[in-house]
Amino acid sequence: MIKAVTGTRDILPGDIPKWNFLESVVISNLSKFNYKEIRTPIFEETGLFARGIGESTDIVSKEMYTFLDRSGESLTLRPEMTAGVVRAFIEHSLDKKQNLNKLFYIAPMFRQERPQAGRFRQFHQFGAEAIGSNDPSLDAEMIIIAYDILVKLGLKNLQVKINSLGIPASREEYKIKLKSYMLPHFDKLSGESKKRFETNILRIFDSKEEQDQKLLIDAPLLIDHLDEESFAHFDKVKQALTLAGVPYLIDPKLVRGLDYYTNTTFEVVSQSVGSQSALCGGGRYDLLIKELGGANIPGVGFAAGIERILLACENEKSLMIGDEKIDLYIVTIEKGLENFAYKTATEFRRKNLITDLDYLSRSVKAQMREANRFNAAFVLFIGGDEFAKGELVLKNMRNGEQLIFGKDELNKICQIIKGV
Ligand code: AMP
Repeated sequence: MIKAVTGTRDILPGDIPKWNFLESVVISNLSKFNYKEIRTPIFEETGLFARGIGESTDIVSKEMYTFLDRSGESLTLRPEMTAGVVRAFIEHSLDKKQNLNKLFYIAPMFRQERPQAGRFRQFHQFGAEAIGSNDPSLDAEMIIIAYDILVKLGLKNLQVKINSLGIPASREEYKIKLKSYMLPHFDKLSGESKKRFETNILRIFDSKEEQDQKLLIDAPLLIDHLDEESFAHFDKVKQALTLAGVPYLIDPKLVRGLDYYTNTTFEVVSQSVGSQSALCGGGRYDLLIKELGGANIPGVGFAAGIERILLACENEKSLMIGDEKIDLYIVTIEKGLENFAYKTATEFRRKNLITDLDYLSRSVKAQMREANRFNAAFVLFIGGDEFAKGELVLKNMRNGEQLIFGKDELNKICQIIKGV
């Protein structure tokens, strides 16, 4: 038997109401902040991600689904959305139409990571990008949007962590300090961190290895080495968060070790999802657009993992989604009336009632069981003595009340069902 590929999951009909609800909260919140949806292709030229995410990152160096297509071109299933959005922004000169573009997306991503709870190879993210302004209030806006969505989903055990990476010049100075602090301890670093020492020393802060964490306790911190402008920028982000009533914690060890990330980085973590606790992450990327061939235009964004958020909701029992129901189930009492039932069902569907009927020639009892399984609000009986007299019986399944209508009174039946 062929099964779903490791790390991928089917989202079955029973799970869809939760997904739909989450997506509706995402869309309505982002729309209130005047973000517009963008959809980009699922695969892009590999070079876009190599440049847009960084060769030295785990994503690019070991997690991408990269393949040659039949013409020999190297393509990659997108591991994140920012690079694709920025590519589209540049390709369509969106800045010519509007100075500030506020965009959002809900889309599947692909990374060949080791699957575990809350970590998949195909997963879904929603996120936003604001391209065209370096106003710190936009950095805060990202955090406020993400936080508000998570709160609307009923989540409680949330913590917003923020940090600033400053600008490359001060970061380079700081990296030299960090290197000279680490050098005497080099032998005690984990293998991965030894590599990072060379490629991008900041990312040693990302390490989960105890031996690295021990060494980092007394390490100099980037936040203490910010230039004046970055410091003021960070202050304004904090101010805006306070104005919006979003509680936050400054985490000087929260790094996104890429050269074109600047100033603010943030993460929202949940204590309800075990080791994969980050629900959402983001930051400012003022140098990325230029790096990808665009003008010198600043941007800021975030991405949040839907599977992980739903896991947190499940663990906190925060989503109270009512059982699915249908408006009407048509029970055909006797043979020979199937065509009438079919025509009636079609008419009710065209009148916007969620309607179903039997397709398996089942007994009346089995049809009633099916109506209950679908949580039908009403059942319409077709057949029996009433039908012979030109009548239809409508049963209200909530209170058992039965009403009689003429065969041609579908509008009246419809009004009763809709409660108008
Ligand atoms: P990132 O793009 O790595 O900053 O991730 C942003 C968010 O996407 C994370 O906080 C997670 O919630 C989610 N995420 C990232 N990678 C995965 C994955 N492999 N499986 C499920 N969710 C993920």
